[in-house]
Amino acid sequence: MDNEYMDSRQNESSLSGTGNFIHSLINEDLKGELNKVHTRFPPEPNGYLHIGHAKSICLNFGLAKLYGGKCNLRFDDTNPAKEDTEFVNSIEEDIKWLGFDWEDRLFFASEYFEKMYECAVLLIKKGKAFVCDMTAEEMRNARGTLNTPGTESPYRNRSVSENLELFERMRNGEFKDGEKTLRAKIDMSSSNINMRDPVIYRIAHMTHHAAGDKWCIYPMYDFAHPIEDAIEEITHSICTMEFEDHRPLYDWFINEIDFPVKPRQIEFAKLNLSDTIMGKRFLRALVEEGKVDGWNDPRLITLSGIRRRGYTPESIRKFCDMIGVSKANSVVDFAQLEYCVREDLKDKTPVVMAVLDPIKMVITNYPEDSIEMLEIENHPENEQLGKRKVPFSRELYIERSDFMEEPPKKFFRLSVGKEVRLKGAYIVCCTDFVKDENGVVTEVHCTYDPETKSGLNSSGKKVKGTIHWVSVPHAVPVKAMLYENLTIKDENAENGYVFNPNSLVAADNCMCEPSIKGARPMDRFQFMRNGYFCVDSKHSTDENIVFNRIVSLKSSFKPNI
Ligand code: ATP
Ligand code: MG
Repeated sequence: MDNEYMDSRQNESSLSGTGNFIHSLINEDLKGELNKVHTRFPPEPNGYLHIGHAKSICLNFGLAKLYGGKCNLRFDDTNPAKEDTEFVNSIEEDIKWLGFDWEDRLFFASEYFEKMYECAVLLIKKGKAFVCDMTAEEMRNARGTLNTPGTESPYRNRSVSENLELFERMRNGEFKDGEKTLRAKIDMSSSNINMRDPVIYRIAHMTHHAAGDKWCIYPMYDFAHPIEDAIEEITHSICTMEFEDHRPLYDWFINEIDFPVKPRQIEFAKLNLSDTIMGKRFLRALVEEGKVDGWNDPRLITLSGIRRRGYTPESIRKFCDMIGVSKANSVVDFAQLEYCVREDLKDKTPVVMAVLDPIKMVITNYPEDSIEMLEIENHPENEQLGKRKVPFSRELYIERSDFMEEPPKKFFRLSVGKEVRLKGAYIVCCTDFVKDENGVVTEVHCTYDPETKSGLNSSGKKVKGTIHWVSVPHAVPVKAMLYENLTIKDENAENGYVFNPNSLVAADNCMCEPSIKGARPMDRFQFMRNGYFCVDSKHSTDENIVFNRIVSLKSSFKPNI
C-alpha cells in the first residue's frame, strides 16, 4: 500500500475522532502484506435486527468506508431449524434504512454447503477429522472440565478411508439424527475446551429454507464461519466478545484448510442498554405472546420498531459513533440514545401546537365570532422552516396541567389572578374556572389584553410563562401514543425484568392545530412542550391520524464534551 494512501487514511481516521483499537490492529496489518480491507455483517436470519446489531453494522460498513474497502452482507443461514425469509427481507430493509449498501455482495452461507463439505473431506484426508459414534451425552461426559483434560473418543483413530466412507454415508442419509458426528481431531487435553475435538458436522434430517432437502448433514457454526469468511476473502472478521475463546479454533480451521486469504478475527464488546433486554429470544417471546404490536412495535429496540417510532438513521449512526468500540463490557444509558435522537431532530423538525390532555379555555372578552389568523414561525431558531398561519378564537384548548386551582409557589402558568402568554398570540389573565359535579375542572375563564399581541406588544407587559393552545372550532382530534420503558425491574423474574403494563398510554383525545391535516406516515413534528412525534406508519389514516411520541423534550443525559 502506498504511503500517500496510508497517510490520507490515517488522517481521516484521526480527524473523524473514531480512532479505536480495531483501527490500530488494521493499521498494523496494512503495514504488512495486506493491501485491502474487506469486512462483512453476518446476521442469522432468525429474528429482526435490534440496536445492538446497528452497532455491528455501523462498525463493519464504517471500517470498509474508512479504509476504502468493501463490506458484504452475508446471511448466516447454516442452521435449518429457525430461519425464515421474512427475517431476510426485514434485515435487508433495516440495513438500507440505516444508510449502508452492500452493492452486489449479498451472500447466503447456505450457498457454500458444498464447499464446506469439501473442506471437511480435506480435513479427513489430512487425518484431522474423524467420524464419531458417541452420543451427545457421552461426548459431554468425555469433554473434561476447565481443570481436567477430556478423554479421547474410542473412534478417534479410525482410518482415513473408513472416515471418508462413513462421512459420505452420513451425507447420503444412511444414519439417524445424532447417530454420528464428524469431529475435528485437535487436542482433548487443550486448556481451551473449544479445541477438544469439537463437532464440525451433525446429522439433521430437516428441510432448509434455501437448500431444501438436499442436505441432511449441517456444519456447526465454529466450522462454517471461518470458511464463509475465507471464501469471501474477508480480511477482518469482526465479532463480539463471546467468540474470543473460539478464536484459536477459527485460526486452526483457516490454517488447516489453507485459504489464500487468512481472515483475522477481532472481537469487541456488545452494546448493552440500561434497563433494556436486547436478545432475540426475549423479543420473539413478546411478539409471539401478543404483548406488543409485532416486531415493529414502537417500544421495541428492534430497528423496525425504533424506525416506526420515528428515530432517524442519522441519530442511530451518531449514537454508534459516540459509544465507540472497546473490549470492555459496559452498559450504555438509554438516555444517551435519546439524546442523539433529540440532537438530530432539534434543528430540522417543525414545531406545531398540540394539546395532549385538553381542557377548554374561554376568553370572555374576545368577540364571539371573531377569528384571527396568527402568523407563527415553524421553528424558534431555524428560519428556513418558514412560518404558518394558525387560527385563534374565543375558545381554545389548553393542557389541563397548565391550570391549577391551588398553585404552589413558582407555578408560572394559570390560576385565578395569574397571567400567561399564549404562544404567538396574547397575554391572558385567569379570572375564573368551572367544575363539574365530581369536582373536576372543565373550563378556565380568562380575559385577554389586545395590547399584548405577539410581535407588537405595545403594552410592554412581560410574563414568565408561555403555553401552547389550539382553537376549539379548528382543532383536529388525533391519537397520540405515549411510551415508557417496555420493561420494569423485578428481582423475581428470570432475567430481572418483567413487561411494563404502562409502557403504552394512548392520549385518545389529543387536539392539534389544523396545519397538521394532511400529515403523512413518518412525518415528524415537535409538539411544542410535549416532545417529538412521528405519524404512525401502521395505523394512521387521513381521517384518524395516529402519532407516536419519539422522545420527550427533556434530557437526563449530559454529553461529556
Ligand atoms: P442476539 O444475541 O440478539 O440473538 P445474535 O448475536 O444471535 O443476536 P446474529 O444475527 O448472530 O445475532 O448477529 C449478527 C451480528 O451482530 C454478529 O456479528 C453479532 O456479534 C452482532 N451483534 C449481535 N448483538 C450485538 C450487540 N448487542 N452489540 C453489538 N453487536 C451485536
Ligand atoms: Mg447469533
